[in-house]
Amino acid sequence: MTTAQLPRAQPRIVIIGAGMAGILTAIKLREAGYEDYVIYEKSDRVGGTWRDNTYPGIACDVPAHLYTYSFEPNPSWSQTFAPGPEIHAYFERIAQKYGVTQSIRFNESVPHCEFKAGRWQLRTSLGRADVADFVIAATGVLHHPHTAAIHGLETFAGACFHSATWDHSVPLAGQRVGVIGTGSTAIQITSALAHRVARYDLFQRTAQWIMPIENVPYSEAEKAEFADNPAKLAALKVEVNGYFQHFSNAVIDAESAEMKEIEDACLANLESQVHDPVLREQLRPDYRAGCKRLIFSADFYAAIQQPNAHLITAGIAGIEPGGVRTSEGELRELDVLVIATGFRADSFIRPTTVLGRDGKNLDDVWAEAPAAYLSISIPEFPNFFMLNGPNGPVGNFSLIQIAEAQVAYILQLLEEVRGGRCREISANAQVSAAFEQTRQTAVRKSIWSTGCKSWYLDKNGVPASWPWSRSAFFEAMAQPNLDSFDRVG
Ligand code: NAP
Repeated sequence: MTTAQLPRAQPRIVIIGAGMAGILTAIKLREAGYEDYVIYEKSDRVGGTWRDNTYPGIACDVPAHLYTYSFEPNPSWSQTFAPGPEIHAYFERIAQKYGVTQSIRFNESVPHCEFKAGRWQLRTSLGRADVADFVIAATGVLHHPHTAAIHGLETFAGACFHSATWDHSVPLAGQRVGVIGTGSTAIQITSALAHRVARYDLFQRTAQWIMPIENVPYSEAEKAEFADNPAKLAALKVEVNGYFQHFSNAVIDAESAEMKEIEDACLANLESQVHDPVLREQLRPDYRAGCKRLIFSADFYAAIQQPNAHLITAGIAGIEPGGVRTSEGELRELDVLVIATGFRADSFIRPTTVLGRDGKNLDDVWAEAPAAYLSISIPEFPNFFMLNGPNGPVGNFSLIQIAEAQVAYILQLLEEVRGGRCREISANAQVSAAFEQTRQTAVRKSIWSTGCKSWYLDKNGVPASWPWSRSAFFEAMAQPNLDSFDRVG
């Protein structure tokens, strides 16, 4: 079959990934009248990051009522910041409710996609061949665990696992537990675990700023009111959106008054909540708050000040069967070692091989750093779109809101093909290059460029994020400028 047969009333669409964005895409495609779609999901359940990450204390630090599909409010969120299992259950419920689950091929990944004769030829991990008019990669951002190459790690005699593959068969009570890393994940683990184990060691390479939050449970009366009175819930969302507007305006301008407010709040939190002056200095970062992805926590400082909790700031010389040997020569004996060293943030759809027009390999296109026009489309990769792709607003506001705007935008591109106005559509190379150059200039003004090491930075040290305001993002997503796209056929 070739493009000559397009437009098809029912083009075939492959979605890769059944996490938050993949479920959303399926729902929106169905709503727009597309019926021939399938989701390939590498795992046996929906939920993406919320399925994979089950570590103690997992929660979303975006307020729950914002981390919710706009068309499926959830009056029953238990607290301001919902715990991971509740969020996972929400996605499972929505996938069932909208009939998405039946379109998913579970335990089947897509290692290879190739654009040939006007269509995407896919090969799956089960050896299946599929042919699609469109591919939508909803593969998430942080899903390939990064396990630090620490000398001797494999020799550890106790239980050892990455935070994203938590081994729940390992008992923790009464154990000596060590956690390597001080990112959002390790901070949440610390709050949840320090008081439950015999001894808790947190291995810190770099101190983190902690933004204080209040995580308040919703009462049954409040939940009932949210259910009975949607206007009340809508008003809450408007209010919380306002905070986010403030936050997202702050981070894009390192010299803004809003950024100063955030830095002051983090500093006051450190000064007022950490009582021992030595520990306080150990926990004091030497870079600006917000430069790394800001950590929001109500209780980390309390947790690390418990008598059985220890912040280890000496470097890690190596791992031995009995525990972690520090650069000062001390052996911190451990029964359980958790590797909370983050994710490979530049993978996106990879390791899938993606070959665009004339065999152009995505790996080569992204050899310097991943990039995409508006995070969505790559020149010479026609009819291939990404959700939460490179350089989007990953840390600025709710990823669900971002994905909803991106799906709406992609649907408008699909409509160009379904409406018969073209057969192939992808971002224009010059427009993309100019966009990326403007982005790289704008991002220099952001807090992420102020001198720290973080997963936001690409290998050239350029923050891989949306450097403009929240409203600029939604304006850009409202309607594609079709002149920015190559339309063939
Ligand atoms: P991360 O932010 O990348 O943190 C990794 C940590 O491991 C850092 O403290 C890093 O230290 C440390 N590390 C890495 N290699 C090391 C080594 N060889 N030796 C010692 N320490 C090492 O990863 P994450 O905590 O998993 O969080 C990743 C992102 O996931 C977050 O930024 C956030 O966007 C998302 N997340 C979100 C939530 C939420 O509530 N929404 C919760 C968890 C995670 P350095 O700082 O020195 O590099």
